[in-house]
Amino acid sequence: MARAKIPAAGPAPPWWLMEGDEECPGCGQLYIYEMEFRCPECEMTTCVHCRRRHSDGRWVCVSCTEPPGDTDGG
Ligand SMILES: [Zn+2]
Ligand SMILES: [Zn+2]
Repeated sequence: MARAKIPAAGPAPPWWLMEGDEECPGCGQLYIYEMEFRCPECEMTTCVHCRRRHSDGRWVCVSCTEPPGDTDGG
């Protein structure tokens, strides 16, 4: 009788490695609520990977770091 190898039941992964339910509008990845970043400019919530350092020194979302840039000709 072949003995089935029982996978070792390791400890649960830390919360920062778990997959969250919140979808980041910046990268589309799922992140957990504890790891969200709220942009002070537009109050949009993204994951911490999508935050960027503004020239002012504050942390803002990707959309707020990009220069306004005039859209000519739409
Ligand atoms: Zn993101
Ligand atoms: Zn923003």
